[in-house]
Amino acid sequence: MGKIVRVLSNDGGVLCTAVDSADMLREIARLHESSQVVTAALGRMAAAASMMGAMLKYEGDRLTLRANGGGACGTLTAVADYRGNVKCCAGNPKATVPPKEDGSLDVEGLVGRDGTLTVIKDMGLKEPYVGQIPLASGGIAQDITAYYSFSEQIPTVCGLGASFGEKGEICGAYGYMVQVVPPVSDKSIKVLEENIAKMDEVTQISEHGADPERIALTALSGFGAEILDSWDARYFCDCSRERTLGVLASLGKKELARLAEEQDETEVCCHFCNKKYKFSADEIVKLLKD
Ligand SMILES: [Zn+2]
Repeated sequence: MGKIVRVLSNDGGVLCTAVDSADMLREIARLHESSQVVTAALGRMAAAASMMGAMLKYEGDRLTLRANGGGACGTLTAVADYRGNVKCCAGNPKATVPPKEDGSLDVEGLVGRDGTLTVIKDMGLKEPYVGQIPLASGGIAQDITAYYSFSEQIPTVCGLGASFGEKGEICGAYGYMVQVVPPVSDKSIKVLEENIAKMDEVTQISEHGADPERIALTALSGFGAEILDSWDARYFCDCSRERTLGVLASLGKKELARLAEEQDETEVCCHFCNKKYKFSADEIVKLLKD
């Protein structure tokens, strides 16, 4: 089970959200049978979306994060609810790219940066909120930082990482996001910069995985910060037969008529969890009449 921890400074001006996303990555690798570098990229998307989702206010609110950088993995999509439960998918989950010179996974090269990062917040209003920026690096964390800076004017530092063992097993994964509510004093900025410089040490993944409490408390050390709340978050797909029928209906009458005529059974596979839904030609015909 993943875990989200939030730490708030005493003056209420700085918030750090951190997530232990190792189990989310394991579920991504299991469901998508993704290459290691795609698992790493999706893991970063999932951790970021999870933390951003946790900032939504109400049950039923949803956040979608989409990175479309023109790279080998195709479009990456992650969807989170207001508790930070998340699901994600990649256009090409089996894509691979050569490692970087230092041997590490080249997530930036996989995602590419010839495109955009899109954030959609569906808060039950008539129109969802949509924010979009050109991808800054393709490594996701910097792109999230850039998104908050340009689109929401919230100074943000984001870190995302994962560690794999010799056999490719997932040892641990984390994400953190530090956000400052302006106005910010120069002194606070200086302390934050010092804290962020120390983050490499606390984001080291041990045999017990990442430690989101320690990450969040380190980010805000010197601010008299305390843990605000923490809760479990996981990889979770909320697809259903009914919702899948809704997606089918959106194909339009012409396509539905073709499906009903050409095949006795139409199978729809959920991109997020691979669950398969089967619909008879009669059910498709019924959709046509609605
Ligand atoms: Zn599903």
